[in-house]
Amino acid sequence: MSRPGPAMVVKTWLKAVRSRWRMIVLSAPQRVECVACGWRGRRFLDDSWHRNVCCPKCGSSVRHRLLLAAHRHLEEFSLADIYGGRRVLHVAPEPIVGKHIRPVAASYVRADYLHDGVDLRLDITDMRGVADGAYDVIIACDVLEHVGDFRRALSEMHRVLADGGLAVLTVPQEDGLAVTREDPSLTTDEQRRAAFGQHDHVRMFGDDFAAELDRHGFEVTIVESASFPRDLVTRYRLGPERSAHPLATNHRRVFFCRR
Ligand SMILES: [Zn+2]
Repeated sequence: MSRPGPAMVVKTWLKAVRSRWRMIVLSAPQRVECVACGWRGRRFLDDSWHRNVCCPKCGSSVRHRLLLAAHRHLEEFSLADIYGGRRVLHVAPEPIVGKHIRPVAASYVRADYLHDGVDLRLDITDMRGVADGAYDVIIACDVLEHVGDFRRALSEMHRVLADGGLAVLTVPQEDGLAVTREDPSLTTDEQRRAAFGQHDHVRMFGDDFAAELDRHGFEVTIVESASFPRDLVTRYRLGPERSAHPLATNHRRVFFCRR
């Protein structure tokens, strides 16, 4: 009988390693799961302020998973109820969110002010090319901290939404900050990073954000980690571990704003 050649030995060895690795992976406790892409593992990746928050496969953050967990687990926010047969405008569109919405929506338009590769170039503070009542749903996750005048953006969203339409919004909110902070005199990347946590943020929202929405004619329902049972909060990481950084957003919320 001939002895196996070196190539065969290496192949057999690789096969054994692969099978052993598969066993280790499958037997490891699966502690977290991404509701956006289905990835499962022991923990998510860290971001600059929080541990265990960012999906290594699709990049989802707490805000994306809160929104998609609401669509999957909260009856009144099911994908079909919110987007089914609706005209949807997704501002600064995250593909990991869009891929769940596009199949059920009547129309799905991706808009951005700065980036290419979308359907519409749009300044949400001045949507003069968009007719009144043109959309049934507008999604804008972590967009309003970037725009010059967020109150004008809210007025414009109210205008381009049909009666009964819905704005789905998230914003970074500083822990314990009562009133939204903004300062137009801060214009450099360093000043904005120091004041608002990121070079292209022009404000930090406070707890008054819901009241602002109310003032602009929206009826607001907030979805946050407390909206879900404990096991889902842990499995999907719907609330970050508290960071001591003064600008860290430790409490994420999704604002469902009915016109
Ligand atoms: Zn993911």
